Amino acid sequence: MRAAFRTLGCKVNQVETEALLGFLKALEPEVVPLEAGADLVVINTCAVTTTAEADARKEIRRARRANPGAFIVVTGCYAELSPEAVRELGADAVVPNSRKAELPRVILERFGLPSDPITTPPNAFWGAGERGLLNGRVRAFLKVQDGCQAGCAYCIIPRLRGKERHRDYREALAEAEALLRVGVKEIVLTGVRLGSYRGHPKGLAGLVEDLYHLGAKVRLSSLEPEDTGEDLLRVLARYAPEVRPHLHLSLQTGSDRLLRLMGRRYDKAYYRALVQRAYELIPGFALTTDVIAGLPTETEEEHRETLAFLEELRPTRVHAFTYTPRPKTRAAAMPQVPPEVRKRRTKEIIALAQRLAEERMRSKLGSQVEVLVERIQNGLALGHTPDYYEARLSGPARPGETVWAEVEGVEGYVLIGQVAPTVVEWGQHASKPV
Ligand code: SF4
Repeated sequence: MRAAFRTLGCKVNQVETEALLGFLKALEPEVVPLEAGADLVVINTCAVTTTAEADARKEIRRARRANPGAFIVVTGCYAELSPEAVRELGADAVVPNSRKAELPRVILERFGLPSDPITTPPNAFWGAGERGLLNGRVRAFLKVQDGCQAGCAYCIIPRLRGKERHRDYREALAEAEALLRVGVKEIVLTGVRLGSYRGHPKGLAGLVEDLYHLGAKVRLSSLEPEDTGEDLLRVLARYAPEVRPHLHLSLQTGSDRLLRLMGRRYDKAYYRALVQRAYELIPGFALTTDVIAGLPTETEEEHRETLAFLEELRPTRVHAFTYTPRPKTRAAAMPQVPPEVRKRRTKEIIALAQRLAEERMRSKLGSQVEVLVERIQNGLALGHTPDYYEARLSGPARPGETVWAEVEGVEGYVLIGQVAPTVVEWGQHASKPV
């Protein structure tokens, strides 16, 4: 049984595909690339932008062309948004997000195997799977939250992912223990709106602390600024670098007027104070963020304000998106910025982000950084630093090991270095405060 999986979009989709793999163990799938001839193809799609939708359509067509006889299952946000289009493109089965828990049954039955309670995950919280096929992985995602009801004006996600759900922390810890047992070292907590997590009596901060005490290194994926409290910052500060001193705080725009218009629940002053507090409290803190270029009614001056704010915050990485109107969202009915202006503004944000990243990375030249080695490729060790820089190292290192490395160069967003025999104390080369 040859199976190909394509996962588009966010980390939540990635974790859901991994969970599915665990549920399909009975089929003993051999995972192959999409073009290598598969009996089963699963495409987990995204629809956050029109580009994501176009990618989903392209992948479905590509899968059909490359695997004319395969059973092609399409799931995820694009399947939720446009099930008819997905079917017309050649999918044999369409499983929208709201029915994702049925995925294993749909697939197993097609291949003549019964689905049983073990292969039928609970509907309310799809993605909390048995991840038996993850052996050898150093970092793994753990999904603890799903859905969002914040209702930002530009965002289609509340329609595609439903109401907020929170996974009970005891279940999450049990899955984390299982991951640690198969050799995972770093657990990346994920959710659609992770910061709203309420499955632990002490919220996300409580869950992070418990995971640390299990022996995991913990990283948080994207958070909304208003969900990020002092309690969480203190947990990061107390347990860095095992709890990674890195936050991805979605900014979206540096204009207070646009933040209000888009229904965001913070202003620049709040965001600035939050980031300053993180730099103060957390040794070696690094900020990454998302920005949307060309939101409806955005003026040139407001775009400049965003650039200036980024310059002030000095994020190590910025994910810049070009705004595209999403169906049935409030922002889609607002006056739009011409597409060519949106594209130009995106390019300007990307150029600034690259310059800022390069400056920050160059400041690490000659210093030592800690790296969790994730894999070896062409004799070089690849991994990430606690503050989430990619690193490529020469010298002796094995996947799963934490090593210290001397930084000798910078290539794009990657630190190039040598595994170092000596150890320096964490925080000695901490990033500078804003
Ligand atoms: S917080 Fe806003 S942008 Fe984020 S998923 Fe929810 S509605 Fe979308």
